[in-house]
Amino acid sequence: MTVLVLDFDGTMTDAEAEGRPFVEGYLEDLTALAGRPAGDSEIAAMAVEVAAEIAAAPDRHPFLWMGRAVAPATVDPYLRMVPIANRILDRYGALASPTDRGRLLGGVLYKYNYQKTLGHPVFRAGAGEMLRALSGKETWIVTNSDTHAVAGKIAALDRETPGIAWLTSRVRGYARKFDVDDAWTDAPAELAVRGLDRPVLLRRRAYHDILRAILDAAGATFADLVVVGDIFELDLAMPLAMGARVGLVASQHTPGYERAFVTEHPRGRLISDLAEVPAFAFG
Ligand SMILES: [Mg+2]
Repeated sequence: MTVLVLDFDGTMTDAEAEGRPFVEGYLEDLTALAGRPAGDSEIAAMAVEVAAEIAAAPDRHPFLWMGRAVAPATVDPYLRMVPIANRILDRYGALASPTDRGRLLGGVLYKYNYQKTLGHPVFRAGAGEMLRALSGKETWIVTNSDTHAVAGKIAALDRETPGIAWLTSRVRGYARKFDVDDAWTDAPAELAVRGLDRPVLLRRRAYHDILRAILDAAGATFADLVVVGDIFELDLAMPLAMGARVGLVASQHTPGYERAFVTEHPRGRLISDLAEVPAFAFG
């Protein structure tokens, strides 16, 4: 039997469009922290400049978590904001303590501004139709986000495309896909990806344990699992190493090395249209 696990933000949603209020709010807060006037054009220009640098060389700009490179920073506006914020705060000499900065950027500012996106989810084209087509199939959503926030977005989508409300009880949030646990040895430590100088870290235990619990409840194994997500390193690398098939839902921000790796892998698929997902998973 096949079990399908979907990522949510950036996979079912258009993270760029949905994240716009996050980016705007976050930059306003950074402007204040930097002691610059509201609407400062220097701040806006720096944000554009850093985003362009990251896009030009995604392999050189990882998102760091607990001091380790765990994902590319390029893929969505939430991850991209951290290097932008660091550049701005460095430039104006604000909030020099790494501890204070880490707490503020990843904690308070992230949560406060993410809230601003919840009122108006923006779905990818075809998301509602695809989820409706999965009705009756063994399908789950596993996300780093708040379980109830994502269930709320699905309820909103169900109002546009009725027939998907059954998924609201199939969301497993707080998946901590960033967390790497060296003490857990069921997966190899690393994966080498051509075009990426650093290794992809695979020992994502918290995420694994959620997938394992879903598979156990279904009487299935990793060989029965299909995972679909928008960030190879975060969503797909560990499940692939455990034997799953994986689909990478690409956007203009997907690094070329991720596209190439998934395309060339016998258990990988690059997905350009969500309508491909049901047949990819369930045949
Ligand atoms: Mg995602």
